[in-house]
Amino acid sequence: MAEIKKVIVLGAGYAGLQTVTKLQKILPADEAEITLIDKDDYHYESVLLHEASAGTVNYEDIIYPIESVINQERVKFLKGEVVKVDPHAKVVETNNGRFNYDILVVGLGFVSETFGIKGMLDHAFQIENIQTARKLSRHIEDKFANYASSKEKDPKDLAFLVGGAGFTGIEFLGELTARVDELSNKYGVDRDKVKITCVEAAPTMLPMFDDELVNYAVNYLEERGVEFKIGTPIVGANEKGFLVKVGDEEQQLEANTSVWTAGVRGSKIMDNSFEGVKRGRLVVNQDLTAPGFNETFVIGDVSAYIPEGEERPLPTTAQIAMQQGESVAKNVKNILNGQPKEPFNYVNRGTVCSLGAHDGVGIVYGRNIVGKKAAFMKKVIDTRSIFKIGGIGLAFKKGKF
Ligand code: NAD
Repeated sequence: MAEIKKVIVLGAGYAGLQTVTKLQKILPADEAEITLIDKDDYHYESVLLHEASAGTVNYEDIIYPIESVINQERVKFLKGEVVKVDPHAKVVETNNGRFNYDILVVGLGFVSETFGIKGMLDHAFQIENIQTARKLSRHIEDKFANYASSKEKDPKDLAFLVGGAGFTGIEFLGELTARVDELSNKYGVDRDKVKITCVEAAPTMLPMFDDELVNYAVNYLEERGVEFKIGTPIVGANEKGFLVKVGDEEQQLEANTSVWTAGVRGSKIMDNSFEGVKRGRLVVNQDLTAPGFNETFVIGDVSAYIPEGEERPLPTTAQIAMQQGESVAKNVKNILNGQPKEPFNYVNRGTVCSLGAHDGVGIVYGRNIVGKKAAFMKKVIDTRSIFKIGGIGLAFKKGKF
């Protein structure tokens, strides 16, 4: 009898979970031994991290146990932190053992990238995972509580700095404006005393959107008290707030809460596992394998996928990660059946940037949408991803209907 092949999937984010949930559906029993490895035993919805970070939703509402979506007779879940991948020897090293594989899928996700800016890791909050979200949402409420209960009030308790006006920055600002409304009420604080400043190095924001959408988002946030400082690079962070460059001068912006949303990179494990990795991302072949390794796939935020005939990689999104997971599951089956692999074909259904719970801007099937329609589409997209991974049961459990 032929030896059963070992398939290992690293990371239970959108890419990895979509791979295993598809594999458990399409692979006949006993065709392969499938192991999913993650350092946590839960999946978190990274597309909702800005909500849990601002505190407009509870962190528990954006996580679910990995074992609730895998068929444990078909897929073995192993809790462990990946330390290194050796694609030459086909070995994965974790803090919970070393494992050999025949086919590997690397979907180890993103971490925050501070570009070596001094003080940023020590003095600014990051939007990176459930722990950073819990820390930040608690801290925001603490600042209101402290302001309300102090005799000598510190205006910096009500000042919030957000670094970066990309997708994460704008979506976080949308939630933050809603949270400060709620906390001002709760603690009897004058909302007009709250100061939210967004600092962006580039001369514009949300570069993937046109002026109509950008202006809509900016007006929405400005009406809720956000001040934008664009064309203003952050060059440092300290206990007082951000240091920014204005012309040739450095200026200190002061706040007791500074949040860095200005960059992400792929997992650091990529750096010591593959050659040619830049900011944690590896340029992959059209079938999503790592160059030189026919049975090692790299997907999600650790991969840089350049569609045939184009020059730049697609941006990293949950939508791409999930489509890559499906494509890889089919190719794993093809490898096991001795069939040729198929190239990945990305279908862009659109992108929505939320502005709080009830508003947003986006492009869906090539058309601009704003307001409630965009917020609705964002919910459709989120529900779709929950449904595709966990089926109708999980969608109900997470209150998506
Ligand atoms: P990003 O890199 O897209 O944006 C970071 C922003 O920070 C940029 O505008 C950049 O100019 C600015 N910046 C960088 N250095 C700076 C500095 N020193 N000072 C001031 N500003 C600085 O990062 P992101 O917003 O976290 O997005 C990461 C990826 O995830 C993107 O591909 C994005 O499309 C995707 N994403 C998608 C969604 C969604 O679909 N709803 C949500 C979040 C993120």
